[in-house]
Amino acid sequence: MATESWHERSKTVQIDGRAVVDGKRVDAVSGAHFDCISPIDGRKLGEVARCTESDVDLAVHSARAAFEDGRWSGKAPVDRKRTLIRFADLMLAHKDELALLETLDMGKPIRYSRSVDVQLAQNCIRWYGEAIDKIYDEVAPTAQDSLALIQREPVGVVAAIIPWNYPMLMAAWKIGPALAAGNSLILKPSEKAPLTSLRLAELALEAGVPEGVFNVLPGYGDEAGKALGLHMDVDCIAFTGSTRVGKQILQMAGQSNLKRAWTELGGKSANIVCADCPDLDAAVAGAIGSIYFNQGESCNAPSRLFVEESIREAFLEKALAMIPKYAPGDPLDPDTVMGAIVDSIQMKTVLGYIEDGKASGARLLAGGQAARAETGGLYIEPTLFDGVDASMRIAREEIFGPVLSVLSFTDLDEAVRQANSTSYGLAAAVWTADMSRAIRTARRLRAGTVHVNQYDSDDITVPFGGYKQSGNGRDKSLHAFDKYTELKTTWIQI
Ligand code: NAD
Repeated sequence: MATESWHERSKTVQIDGRAVVDGKRVDAVSGAHFDCISPIDGRKLGEVARCTESDVDLAVHSARAAFEDGRWSGKAPVDRKRTLIRFADLMLAHKDELALLETLDMGKPIRYSRSVDVQLAQNCIRWYGEAIDKIYDEVAPTAQDSLALIQREPVGVVAAIIPWNYPMLMAAWKIGPALAAGNSLILKPSEKAPLTSLRLAELALEAGVPEGVFNVLPGYGDEAGKALGLHMDVDCIAFTGSTRVGKQILQMAGQSNLKRAWTELGGKSANIVCADCPDLDAAVAGAIGSIYFNQGESCNAPSRLFVEESIREAFLEKALAMIPKYAPGDPLDPDTVMGAIVDSIQMKTVLGYIEDGKASGARLLAGGQAARAETGGLYIEPTLFDGVDASMRIAREEIFGPVLSVLSFTDLDEAVRQANSTSYGLAAAVWTADMSRAIRTARRLRAGTVHVNQYDSDDITVPFGGYKQSGNGRDKSLHAFDKYTELKTTWIQI
């Protein structure tokens, strides 16, 4: 679709910001709502229900009733499979609508909302649907006079709290395994990007997910989110977001009913490029493409680049030649690769880090400014700092914007030490033609995912999650079922 058509279509979008509780669209109990503003141009898209503790109580009650009467939890896996595949099919049938909502809501380019976000999200739900009737339980190797069954059971009522950077995909990473395993779910999207979650709940109902099994409560973190974290009848909380709030989620679990608490948190990932990397162009494209993808608002963005000193100049020359391609543009133009920053708070945070980098003595080689102010939207130029020192804030803290910090090294051991000297451990990469060196380095990097001679490979079949303060669980792959199931042992005397 051409840019004009997307703009035309965006003018006719109807926003229904009401919550989804017990299969119905409802206002918040208090009647309160908040404005949903598009970062593309500052336009108000609509009003969204501001759910609080009373709404959480209703949703938990509905989810619990659904779980107990077995309308979903008691279905055969093959039946849940069919429904989830219908749900994924409906997402594909509504691909343009979902992509447009995502782009208007949080500012990412429409080309990626369509080809990445909707595509991966529907695939995730489809994949867990397809998986669930192919997983067998176990019989333990006990003595002959008994039989011990080890079975997975759904954990019960699951609350999922998600961030705004990949709203639909982060929702799908929770919805897929949680629903496939037979749980009831309450999803709280970010107040900064709630629209696709609400629409997903409608599509799930249309696909045949029974009422009460999938509820969506939009609202603020310290209201709806906190009420979910502290609720005594939520069995499991699956959180994706900042490390700061992730720590609070774990405390809330401890303060309440010790609900299972899973956290997928921030990152400051290191990308190490050795002088013998097999393809310098590919290394540059990987580094630049990955840090500026999604406006730099990716938890696993390789925001610390360690380049071996002997190739630093050649690397930077190629990187600087590539950066203009990432200049922010109209997110509704299918050629745009860098869109808008989600809101004015995030914009201020990122610009603040850029000022901090300059003040601490790093060399600003590209970007550093706000852009496209005339549109009324929020945009930042792709920014690159060279000469960054490991002690600077731009080398230590998650910026979550289009800012790359370049550090150089002469000794790989020292680069690995610095790469690991962070509280985060989400992702890392090493580029070298020497496979033994690559494997030795990959083993030493303390991160949930390590890439060798590439950065952005991704597939639903591999787990995703962090070491250290990047969190404690894994999304994606069959391992995600560990979060949404309990293990039951049944002893039978023969
Ligand atoms: P955030 O922690 O501010 O908010 C995340 C969610 O938590 C939102 O829905 C928010 O409303 C809610 N929340 C906020 N305060 C809360 C509270 N007191 N109690 C309960 N809920 C609360 O994070 P964000 O700004 O939305 O997202 C960016 C962060 O998410 C980054 O740190 C990024 O790295 C991380 N992230 C991690 C992954 C991963 O898989 N590891 C994926 C995407 C994003």
